[in-house]
Amino acid sequence: MARVISYITASQLLPLARNPKVAIVDVRDEERTYDPHIAGSLHYASDSFYQNIPNLLRDVHGKDTLVFHCALSKVRGPSCARMLADYLSEKKVGAEIKNVVVLERGFNGWRTSGRPVCSCTNIPCNGGDAQKASQSQ
Ligand SMILES: [Zn+2]
Repeated sequence: MARVISYITASQLLPLARNPKVAIVDVRDEERTYDPHIAGSLHYASDSFYQNIPNLLRDVHGKDTLVFHCALSKVRGPSCARMLADYLSEKKVGAEIKNVVVLERGFNGWRTSGRPVCSCTNIPCNGGDAQKASQSQ
């Protein structure tokens, strides 16, 4: 059964971002290394996405929602979401993953609308900046 990929907006994602069942998957390429990112997001570059799907599935064990984005979520984000959805259908794995969604307007939309970003250089991001930001609110 083909999976449906839906879109969510930054304002819809904000309250979900710290839900332990939700994983945010950043599929930007080299810009992830020098641009900030959404706190706690995973990084799977689009140019090597398909071969890394098994690693991604290990990383998102226990999550039921995967949120994909790239810089604008025009091309890389939706295409990686589609690749993952097709992979799950073909291999009949990932039954616990209920939702494969794409963040509308991508990271740039998230940032320009004033949502919190993280500038850490940890791989993977441990969400450190977001914790600090929430403590100062
Ligand atoms: Zn970070």
